Order: sequence, then structure tokens, then C-alpha cells
Amino acid sequence: MTTFDLDALVVEETSRGSALVERLVGALGASIPVTHVSDAREATRAMLGADPLGAGKRRLVVRKRRAPFLMGCPAGSAQFACCGYLVLILASNCPMDCSYCFLQEHVANNPAFQVYSNFRDAFEEMDRLAHSAPGRHFRVGTGELADSLALDSVTKLSVDLIEFVRKREHLTLEFKTKTDEIENLLKLDPRGRAMVSWTLSPDAVWQSSEHRTASPSARIAAARAVLDGGYRVGFHFDPMIAYEGAERDYLQLVDQLLSAIPARRISLLSMGALRMTPGLRSAARRRFPTDPMLLGEEVLGSDGRLRAFGALRIRLYRALQERFERAGARIPSYLCMESRAVHERVFGVAPANPATIGERLALG
Ligand code: SF4
Repeated sequence: MTTFDLDALVVEETSRGSALVERLVGALGASIPVTHVSDAREATRAMLGADPLGAGKRRLVVRKRRAPFLMGCPAGSAQFACCGYLVLILASNCPMDCSYCFLQEHVANNPAFQVYSNFRDAFEEMDRLAHSAPGRHFRVGTGELADSLALDSVTKLSVDLIEFVRKREHLTLEFKTKTDEIENLLKLDPRGRAMVSWTLSPDAVWQSSEHRTASPSARIAAARAVLDGGYRVGFHFDPMIAYEGAERDYLQLVDQLLSAIPARRISLLSMGALRMTPGLRSAARRRFPTDPMLLGEEVLGSDGRLRAFGALRIRLYRALQERFERAGARIPSYLCMESRAVHERVFGVAPANPATIGERLALG
């Protein structure tokens, strides 16, 4: 099991006495100081210094979320063939520290590691969405601005989420993680409504770039355990990094995955190349100056992001896609933040209606 070091628990007054604070104080209160503040922004402002994001990862702030919990995936754009994903923001920042993580830019001005005590409001938002679009099936993920399960052993939010979603036929809830924190999941029957997906990277990327995450082998073992526990499983090869030897390493990783989990038991695959705005790349290289994975040659795309050359990306995508095809099952798959033309080169056809992954999962 992954464990994370926290230095402090900071509770905004509006969250005092909430169920989430009770759980956190019960689990952590004996080992770290608990302070109360009238405005959680104070806790963020206090994190100056050379690496505010790194400091933010060690200080857990509980407050009420004032903005909506549910939103369209921030990676979505008319430029890309998108998958129709919705994200539920239950936390911001993450105790792990991947050198390529987009949070280094995205939460740079608000780097506190935050969880929201009014998380039950998110359930009302999901019910309102369902009532507004009867007959539609939605795929909602919790791992956008934080890892879905990184703190689940102490927040136990997965229990609330599964109890909510397992009564709702129109929803598939996706936990996205790089941990093996699955103890709470294994205690519950999700009744087919929950999927757990792992980002998978070869050992070379894990060792150089994915600090404090579970090893790729541990992620695959955790996936097998939740599959046996009644969950669907999915895998994201994202970001794929085009380093020397990458194709060999990614194919070995696919073989390792398929030896643990047959292709027909995999509900979802995605692939996406490492992509960074110039601002993110500068921040990442500043924080991780010796990481070789951040030094690849890249071209600037029309969306303002740097990626490996198109031919290299397509070669990697196709190699993985062919390996999965040879495994003999048609797994719902998509590319993240790539054009329809790239989809066509990889899958042979562009997705007919890319925003239908949710529907396809409902049938799968
Ligand atoms: S696990 Fe995900 S959210 Fe956490 S640091 Fe790595 S990429 Fe960022």
C-alpha cells in the first residue's frame, strides 16, 4: 500500500465538525498537527518558498467547495476527437509527484492539497445532470485535479461514491489512480457501476518520473484484485513518452498487463502522448532538472502544446493498438488530445461519435 507523508491538517472553520473532517482527524490527528483557519486561502498563502507546489502536497486543507463539482473534461476541445468525459472535482493537488504532471502549471497559484467537506453536493449535481438528459449514459471520473484514491484510506470517499453510483444505471464512475489503495473498494459491491483505471508506464518512466506512486507491477496486481472484486478496469497509457527504447518497453508492459488480465476483461483503454505547454515544461524542468524523460525533442502544436513528432507518436500508438488487437478482443479505446486524423491513422477509422464512450461502457 502506498503511504504519504503529510505535515499538517488545516481545517477551514466552515468545515469544522463535518463527516470528512471527523474521518481525517480520526485517522491523522494523532500524528500531525491540526489547525483551524477562517479562510483556507491563508493556508495557501503561507506556502511560499522555493517549491510551493511541493510544500502544498504535504499540507492537507479541508474546506467547502464553492464552485460546481461536475464539469466537462478540461482536455476537451473542438480541435480534438474527444471522449465526452465528465470530471468530478473532489480534491485538488496530489501527494504523489510526477515530473510531467500538469498540476505544476494548473494549480501553481493555488497549490494547497485540498479536499472538500461538502462533497455530497456533488451527488446532487450528478442527479440533476441525469434528470436533464434522460436516457443518456454518463462516464464521470474523479481523477482530474487529484489522484482518485491517493488518500482513500483516510478520506474513505470511495465508499460514499460507490454507495451513490451503484443505485444509478445511467452512470459509470471512474476512479483514476497510480496507487494500489484499493482496500475500501474491495469491501463493496459496485454492481457494475464503477470502473477503476490505472495509468500505466514502463518501469523506466516510473523510476525517473512518477515519484511516490505504486510500481507498474503493483498497479497491475491491484487492477486484477478489483476486477475479481466486481469492478470494471481500464488502463491509460498516458502520457506515453517517446524515449529511446520506448516501443520495446511499452510493448513489454502491455504483455505484462495481458498476462494478468485478459483483453476481454478490459473495459477501456486510452493513449495519449506527453504534452506540455511551454510554461509547464519550464516548471517541470525546474523542479526535476535531472529527469531524462523531460528532455525529448518536441514540436509545438496549434493548441500551444509541445509533443513528440507526429510520426513518432503514431508509431507508438499503432504498436500498442496492434498488440491489443492481436490479443483478440475489441476494447473501447480512444486517444486523448489527438485529432481525428491521428485517430484514423491509429484505429483505421475515426470514432463515429467520439463522445459516446459513456454509452459504449453502458453496453459493455
Ligand atoms: S499521480 Fe497524477 S495527479 Fe498525482 S502527481 Fe502524478 S500525474 Fe499528477
